[in-house]
Amino acid sequence: MKPIFAPFARPLYVMSKPIGSACNLACDYCYYLEKANLYKQSPKQVMSDELLEKFISQYIGSQTMPEVLFTWHGGETLMRPLSFYKKVVELQKRYAGGRRIDNCIQTNGTLLTDEWCEFFRENNWLVGVSIDGPQEFHDEYRRNRQGRPSFIKVMQGINLLKKHDVEWNGMAVVNDYNADYPVEFYQFFKEIGCRYIQFAPIVERIFRHADGRHLATPLQPGDKLADFSVTPEQWGNFLCTLFDEWIKEDVGTYFIQLFDSTLANWVGEQPGVCSLAKTCGHAGVLEFNGDVYSCDHFVFPEFKLGNIHEKTLVEMMYSERQQAFGQDKQQALPKQCRECEFLFACNGECPKNRFAVTKDGEPGLNYLCKGYHQFFAHVAPYMDFMKRELLSGRPPANVMQAIREGKI
Ligand code: SF4
Ligand code: SF4
Repeated sequence: MKPIFAPFARPLYVMSKPIGSACNLACDYCYYLEKANLYKQSPKQVMSDELLEKFISQYIGSQTMPEVLFTWHGGETLMRPLSFYKKVVELQKRYAGGRRIDNCIQTNGTLLTDEWCEFFRENNWLVGVSIDGPQEFHDEYRRNRQGRPSFIKVMQGINLLKKHDVEWNGMAVVNDYNADYPVEFYQFFKEIGCRYIQFAPIVERIFRHADGRHLATPLQPGDKLADFSVTPEQWGNFLCTLFDEWIKEDVGTYFIQLFDSTLANWVGEQPGVCSLAKTCGHAGVLEFNGDVYSCDHFVFPEFKLGNIHEKTLVEMMYSERQQAFGQDKQQALPKQCRECEFLFACNGECPKNRFAVTKDGEPGLNYLCKGYHQFFAHVAPYMDFMKRELLSGRPPANVMQAIREGKI
């Protein structure tokens, strides 16, 4: 079976941005495009070979496990030439020191060619493709700067990945527009042969910064919610309906990251998605110029840990500041979360989204709380059953038979 990467379970994990925030698309809801404003002095956001080598050697050298996972993230990663990634592989081999190296690359899929796919296949890279479901949903927000839609190009890219037998998974953003159609969404992923799917809710608040950025940091109040954000009600209904579809006949065949992670929390294992983990701080980001940040969703000046030219990855990722960032997820939970029956599964979700107030008026509640609570309550009987199966050494997929027999 294909490995399910759980990078947040690793002691030191830093994803890298070889082209910064540069992208050939300009999706309306992108949280990363505007990071270019942090680097106005470097209009060309390109990681140098020297920095690449420093990162690869340090990153491998700082691992405490025999496997090392590299994640290449953007911006649009394929805007770097293939020669850059060939160099990556060459350097990884040079510094591996007997360790096993895995690579994941995230792309919008529009620039994939036979040549790229051959490279990914030959080197066993896992390719994550951002696609927001069927054409109408996808093209609503995923367009280029001229407003041209991208769905057809993305599907061409996916077909190339399939033709070359490259391992790939789908990453879909659930937003205000597509959240009301979970069944259509899910059917689409099945039709295109995508067995590993990540659904991520989008929540952003508007805040005008002097440097041109317009999204609020988690520390800022935010003037208003961005229009594309999913509502807690939509998110809850999306997850519950999707789960009902999946649990009927797809357990063990299609892998939806959030459901796997929920089951992991139910049995006390580390979840594969950081938002449901107890703490943060294990997943840093390396920008094209060597700046390191606490998390991909915290690339703000306030959360910069330093630069790899001045400090080592270990110094930054194990710094008091980063430890505090990680622990804060748990320590800053409001009373409503601490007393919540589903805290073990939810963990207050991502701190980025904790700008709502609790029933008692305490700040720090997750904006999506209502949706998550609805979801956990809905799936609890099924999760309890799958947990029992797992703990008895039987496959959790038995849940499907139990449902058919009316046992759940
Ligand atoms: S801040 Fe959010 S995105 Fe970052 S590691 Fe924590 S849960 Fe994950
Ligand atoms: S469901 Fe709501 S109250 Fe419960 S842990 Fe999650 S965010 Fe907190």
